[in-house]
Amino acid sequence: MSCPLFYLSEGCTPDTRADPGLDKAPSPGAAGAAPTSPASGRGTQAGASAHLLDRLDPDQRAAAERVEGPLLIVAGPGSGKTRTLTHRIAHLIAEHGAAPDSCLAITFTRRAAAEMRERLEALLPGAAARMPIHTFHSLGLALLREHGEAAGLHRDFRVAGEAERAALLQDVLEVSRTRAERLLRAISRVKRTGALAELDLAEALARYDEALALRNWIDFDDLVGRSIAALEGDPGLVALTRDRFRHVSVDEFQDVDDSQVRLLSLLVPSGGNLCVIGDPDQAIYGFRGADASCFDRFHRDHPGAAVIRLRRNYRSTGTIVTAASRFIGADGRTEPAAEIVRAMQDRISVHAAASDKAEAEFVVAEIEALLGGHSFFSIDSGRSDGRSDDQLGFGDIAVLYRTDAQAEAVAEALGRGGMPFKKSSLAPLAEDPAVQALLAALESEAEEGPLPQQLQRAAEALRRDGADPASTTAALQRLALIASRQDSDDRTAFLAAVALATEADFWDPRADRVSLLTLHAAKGLEFPVVFILGLEDGVLPLRFGEADPAATAEERRLFYVGMTRAMDRLFLCRARERRWRGGTVRLEVSPFLGEIEAELLAHRRPDPAPRRPAERQLSLF
Ligand code: ATP
Ligand code: MG
Repeated sequence: MSCPLFYLSEGCTPDTRADPGLDKAPSPGAAGAAPTSPASGRGTQAGASAHLLDRLDPDQRAAAERVEGPLLIVAGPGSGKTRTLTHRIAHLIAEHGAAPDSCLAITFTRRAAAEMRERLEALLPGAAARMPIHTFHSLGLALLREHGEAAGLHRDFRVAGEAERAALLQDVLEVSRTRAERLLRAISRVKRTGALAELDLAEALARYDEALALRNWIDFDDLVGRSIAALEGDPGLVALTRDRFRHVSVDEFQDVDDSQVRLLSLLVPSGGNLCVIGDPDQAIYGFRGADASCFDRFHRDHPGAAVIRLRRNYRSTGTIVTAASRFIGADGRTEPAAEIVRAMQDRISVHAAASDKAEAEFVVAEIEALLGGHSFFSIDSGRSDGRSDDQLGFGDIAVLYRTDAQAEAVAEALGRGGMPFKKSSLAPLAEDPAVQALLAALESEAEEGPLPQQLQRAAEALRRDGADPASTTAALQRLALIASRQDSDDRTAFLAAVALATEADFWDPRADRVSLLTLHAAKGLEFPVVFILGLEDGVLPLRFGEADPAATAEERRLFYVGMTRAMDRLFLCRARERRWRGGTVRLEVSPFLGEIEAELLAHRRPDPAPRRPAERQLSLF
């Protein structure tokens, strides 16, 4: 299916689900809390809208009904922020006559954007395909494709991939690859925050930008930066864009950075129709320049904006909500703590494994037990709170970890146990060596025939040259999927889409497989059963040297994000001995574990302590 870029940059597969009441991609067994009122079929758009708001609680409904002016919805995890956002947009269209193409929605990942499109399609069949649903970067790309000249860009500019940027900087500054990569991280931070501290960096930045311009390239951060430049330099374009996007909604607002806030202020005038939704306790991108002070900036840009708080946690059992909100300190604040909707149920299981391998085996054994006919809710003391479908599938289970390297042991163990899994991180797709090889092979292919066929030919050439067939096929599948979503066979546009893609975009919520995700990639998702691995001091919280209070605070929020992904069961695991950064280390238990109320935890029998010393004891710090 071909899609006009501006509207369908996140994929155009319409949702085929029958129940418009569901607001998340279905996951086998994940019934979710009972809706506030049942949906009964689809009527006219206005009729559907009435049902639609019936599915919200009074606070959510108040937020959905406030359609004019700036609005901040702030609430904890699982309180229905994303659900409210989608219902609010559907209500705007169905009840207030807003044109679907005037309702711009911005979310954090392309996968989240695709999921939002599906939720909207289920709520208002036919409308979602016309809605601009974007990440900040895909929005930037769409703006620059149409108006790039205003930012001094040539018509067919392209977005440089990670490897290309590093090679370019290496070349221009005559530095090592490692130094080039370090500089690129610093440059990226400057572009996101505008804060330029060191002079050397200013020089590196200037030479890098000049080299990009010579090649008619921009980088990932420029997608937002150049869009700002285009708009700032052209008041007519600002007026045009504001006229086009009458209503702007932003999910996961706590993770937007300075440049994204600036872009928003150009898109929406002070006092305009901007609805932002977020949770400061879930801010996990400080390391990339995002900063929860965006909430203060929102108030400065929009004095007198309405603020609505959602208070009820629908996602997780009382046990999980209590443990998580005490951990993050939410219950000690002046605002009322989250209202617990679901009953107290199974305590949180804690397990100390002998090694990372044993930790992975523990996960497999537990999954086997959970899926093996045990009555799901009778494992501990609690009972079901009325959910009838307690048959779990692989797709209901997520294994979360701090660093991608930790996935290896789990993937091996799941593989040995014959359990299907899907792994995903937020790593750029273009960093995958097999993808890079296929793109390089594509360059030698003639631009003849549809793009997927060109890719196919490139893959065949690679295989003939002896490339690993399995990784080539994997790369081909991903690139062919991106190609199939393009509205033309234009390579420049295709390469731009590839530059924006991350591993996480290919994570299919419907596949009945265990999800292996970094904590960052798990943001916004929910699963009946969640395992968090590596609760060791130095792994979670992750640190490589002296603890820095700001970084530890961010690690704490990251762990909080992880805990609050769990709907019914949460397992916290650690290994006494772990393969880590090229050696084997023994780490102390994570201080985070000691901060969870003891009575909410159920300690599983630990593995016996290893008899032999670690083969090679490395100091972590
Ligand atoms: P996060 O902060 O993790 O992104 P969120 O606040 O966006 O969470 P949602 O994902 O929108 O929360 O909702 C969490 C779960 O609660 C979903 O399964 C959703 O369907 C359910 N839920 C939300 N509101 C209601 C409601 N009024 N009635 C029943 N279920 C609800
Ligand atoms: Mg959400």
